[in-house]
Amino acid sequence: MANPSLLILAGDGIGPEVMSEVKRIITWLGDKRDLHIDVEEDLVGGAAYDVHGTPLADSTMARAQEVDAVLLGAVGGPKYDVLDFSVKPERGLLRLRKEMDLYANLRPAQCFDALADFSSLKKDLVSGLDILIVRELTSGVYFGEPRGIHEENGTRVGINTQRYTEHEIERGARAAFELAMKRDKKLCSMEKANVMESGILWRDVVTEVHADYPEVELSHMYADNGAMQLVRAPKQFDVIYTDNLFGDILSDCAAMLTGSLGMLPSASLGAPMANGRPKAMYEPVHGSAPDIAGTGKANPCACILSLAMALRYSYDAGVEATRLENAVETVLAQGVRTGDLMQKTGGKAASTAEMGDAIIAALTASL
Ligand code: NAD
Repeated sequence: MANPSLLILAGDGIGPEVMSEVKRIITWLGDKRDLHIDVEEDLVGGAAYDVHGTPLADSTMARAQEVDAVLLGAVGGPKYDVLDFSVKPERGLLRLRKEMDLYANLRPAQCFDALADFSSLKKDLVSGLDILIVRELTSGVYFGEPRGIHEENGTRVGINTQRYTEHEIERGARAAFELAMKRDKKLCSMEKANVMESGILWRDVVTEVHADYPEVELSHMYADNGAMQLVRAPKQFDVIYTDNLFGDILSDCAAMLTGSLGMLPSASLGAPMANGRPKAMYEPVHGSAPDIAGTGKANPCACILSLAMALRYSYDAGVEATRLENAVETVLAQGVRTGDLMQKTGGKAASTAEMGDAIIAALTASL
């Protein structure tokens, strides 16, 4: 069988720095676990603009459609802030999400015990936390028409429209139920059915899809209560499924439960390809961190944990995904920290490469 394929788009700022550590782990997987991934690399964001005058070349887009998975570093930076909106680095990222039709955005919020002190909540509320937010990514109020700003009776009016079709709600719900089946079989759907018609439809469709997943315990919650519950007792949740707008807010809220931006991976999944696996793009949640780019201070864990998600969801290599997550946990428990994880612990910060060294050593020790 052909090796699985991966298109690496390291991007800008700290993107290439954290991606270097990911590439070392991919080499380790080939050498030590006989898991060979065919890696191609290309440009995205400002790096692509510098060469092609566009943040994503058509040829790169075409390859992204063909490979088993895309792993993206980060895009953007002050140098590109002056560019026209149509060629800003972020447009490259949006084009990938749109043309690959990546409708389910997975944001895990997992609290590593060694970092529980970094959470904005009390340690016992977050210790052992492991929740997954599935956010619908390609529809809802960020895309709905009509939209715009116009003048009515001498005053300006801003308009956005929340619009969801049954199909859009259903395919995301299926992704969320499938994920719940692989976890603790609990799904909480969040909307505002009390005040929004789109919320009533959301609740109806999720309930209908539930008939195909009777083993999963389904609950419904108004999204505002969901926000409250996330900071009151986050461990009550396993998988949360919600719309684009609420998901944007709730996933950032959940992110703070775990401490640092440098630790947060994400995945965006689309429809199944011919091999049965979903179209997929994996990326750390953080941006290009221009304030520390080029200094060797970046935490590579978010990007490394994004690779772990790719192993699990695109390469059917759940065992290796868990091994990699455990290696990150081991290294943190050993007290190895990049600067972003140091505020409360003191001591000497590990560089990006030293963090990579420690994770590879922990992987090797796990054999
Ligand atoms: P950012 O995530 O780049 O940085 C926020 C803060 O967190 C900075 O102080 C940074 O040093 C720190 N940080 C982020 N990742 C880190 C890591 N791995 N290790 C250590 N510290 C880390 O967000 P920002 O400063 O708002 O944006 C910077 C640029 O990135 C902008 O051009 C923005 O548009 C872009 N951006 C891109 C993405 C993406 O590519 N998905 C996401 C967010 C922002």
